[in-house]
Amino acid sequence: MRQLSDVRDRLRALGAGPSHERRVLRLWSNALPQDSGSRAIEDFLPKSLREGLPAVEAELAGLARLVSRHPGEDGSERLLVGLGDGQTCESVLLPRGGVCVSSQIGCAVGCTFCMTGREGLVRQIGSAEIVAQVALARSLRPVRKVVFMGMGEPAHNLANVMDAIDLLGTAGNLGHKQLVFSTVGDERVFERLPRGPVKPALALSLHTTRADLREELLPRAPRIAPQDLVEAGDAYVRATGYPMQVQWTLLEDVNDTAEELDGIVRLLRGKHAVLNMIPYNSVPDLPYRRPSWEKAAAIARTLHQRGVLTKLRHSAGQDVEGGCGQLRARGRTVPIV
Ligand code: SF4
Repeated sequence: MRQLSDVRDRLRALGAGPSHERRVLRLWSNALPQDSGSRAIEDFLPKSLREGLPAVEAELAGLARLVSRHPGEDGSERLLVGLGDGQTCESVLLPRGGVCVSSQIGCAVGCTFCMTGREGLVRQIGSAEIVAQVALARSLRPVRKVVFMGMGEPAHNLANVMDAIDLLGTAGNLGHKQLVFSTVGDERVFERLPRGPVKPALALSLHTTRADLREELLPRAPRIAPQDLVEAGDAYVRATGYPMQVQWTLLEDVNDTAEELDGIVRLLRGKHAVLNMIPYNSVPDLPYRRPSWEKAAAIARTLHQRGVLTKLRHSAGQDVEGGCGQLRARGRTVPIV
């Protein structure tokens, strides 16, 4: 029962009508007990549903189990999450009510500065398993924002991610803007996002304005010129009204050069965008270095002065390996399928 469609089929087979189905999904995705609310409402549930619901609830609870918690000093917390088949993924509780969820176990993009993609793709995470990560997070603390920046490239699991987003943006009590779809850039994303009932905010992982360097850093990302990516993202966010978040992992002497800063100004000035610069988080065995905070701050200041809204961020949870590029399927218990 990894997919939301499986959950809906189970409920319908038990006699649930659309309103029963909505209620069960709403309570589950908000981590509220199924018997919350008026007892009288329970009495209106068909008998078959009342009797079958505990088994469905048990299965929903088993979709994303808490294996271990790793609190960071900044109020974030990395969660190792066990899925129904014994695979594991990671979610990160962020300071100020956010949660970062995973959409795949492993990742096929293979960014050279990221731990997640080092073993390639293991499997897709189902739409119900994605919502279950949010429900699990909500069982631990209130969640007001969900970012799809954990393990995996959401564009490579587009149908499942969008099913989860549609549920979270309707029954899940989250505004569209509070759901952040993150991608390295893929034409399918720019076609799909504007058509859905829930239109999430867009985060574009750009990392460089040079096409040749991007091929090197993100070897299996679609070959779309950085300028075209930014234009496609800009067209989407102008329709939604909330800004595009451009993600930039800052790698010393790689993408912090004067040439890159000129490229950023050329691509982003005048766009409805925020550049999020995140100094690289160390990953064992990788050759990259993190620039000093002073150097990163000077870069952010320069870009700001040249007309690009730039935020320099510490990646949440990096002291517990919960930062950008540090997530992986720790303690996986079954072989790769
Ligand atoms: Fe995949 Fe994102 Fe890691 Fe790149 S940075 S390998 S897209 S998880």
